[in-house]
Amino acid sequence: MKLWPNADLLVDKLYKPSGRLIPNYPLASSSWFRVGGAAEVMFFPEDEHDLAIFLEKLPNDINYCVLGNKSNVLIRDYGISGIVISLGKAFSKIEVVDGDKILSGCSVLDKKLSSFALQNNIGGFSFYNSIPGSVGGAIKMNAGAFGQETKDLLIEVTLIDRSGITYNVKNSLLDFKYRSSNIANETLCLSALYQGYHSQYHRIYDEMISIKNLRNNSQPLREKTGGSTFKNTKHKKAWELIELSGCRGLSVGGASVSRKHCNFIINNGNATARDVESLGKLIISKVKSVTGIKLEWEIKCIGSGPEI
Ligand SMILES: Cc1cc2nc3c(=O)[nH]c(=O)nc-3n(C[C@H](O)[C@H](O)[C@H](O)COP(=O)(O)OP(=O)(O)OC[C@H]3O[C@@H](n4cnc5c(N)ncnc54)[C@H](O)[C@@H]3O)c2cc1C
Repeated sequence: MKLWPNADLLVDKLYKPSGRLIPNYPLASSSWFRVGGAAEVMFFPEDEHDLAIFLEKLPNDINYCVLGNKSNVLIRDYGISGIVISLGKAFSKIEVVDGDKILSGCSVLDKKLSSFALQNNIGGFSFYNSIPGSVGGAIKMNAGAFGQETKDLLIEVTLIDRSGITYNVKNSLLDFKYRSSNIANETLCLSALYQGYHSQYHRIYDEMISIKNLRNNSQPLREKTGGSTFKNTKHKKAWELIELSGCRGLSVGGASVSRKHCNFIINNGNATARDVESLGKLIISKVKSVTGIKLEWEIKCIGSGPEI
């Protein structure tokens, strides 16, 4: 793994928070693709106050980003310069509000939120059971499955920006579209208020099981992958275009197109991020030349790496 030579100097320049600041923090082992380099400096804030002060005191020329469960990112091989923020335990509180609403911290995993809703007989959250991200990542990406999206449930989100100021934003102002929102890269989601509905345990449970079965049958879930690589287009699903263009099973280095679901790229064990990104680019060019349609990445390729 390539190390950031000035990581310790960067730490010296920063305000010392109560949470942990770790130079050259490896990211690959906790990312779903299992590839990528290190964060120059990783920051685990102790709590919201700690995060707010840290951001307020952060010099303007230092860049940062936030990562959730790393299930929708391809971290390039040289890693991420500047600071990567990870929201931990202090942002994992989850509670029922007014009987059928849920207030959730943004480090809570979608699966946990879905189980919590089940335990409290609150319907609407079953689709989250099959999405391997966190609540923060789900809001930023407007994560969805089987006809439902985050925007259908979210009432409002609490955000914090570079100045360290927190504020609430209503759903209608987040400009949710298919797998996107208008939340800026330097703005972090801290907690989210969702609207569910009263339901019965067995109904929710049955729905969860049928979603789980549908997914097990159609997607390679035990693989090192980032889920759907490209966004579906207006007229055709991405997997159909990839199939049509003869890319099923295509590979570059240790990365290949899944034979089970050809919008999934799989790390076969020894892939680099460069292999995965190169394969993605090859798919884009093949699909473009066969169908005339330009696929758009759903996965976010972040950080730096060797040229492709
Ligand atoms: C096997 C598999 C299946 C998948 N199936 C689906 C699916 O059915 N539907 C679907 O929509 N997605 C799916 N995904 C993609 C992914 O799980 C979602 O996009 C998820 O919402 C990403 O959340 P995360 O916490 O992992 O975010 P990350 O991958 O860590 O980050 C994704 C983006 O969100 C931002 N982000 C993360 N946390 C925060 C925060 N607290 N505040 C602000 N921004 C934040 C990051 O900066 C980044 O831009 C799948 C992925 C895999 C690996």
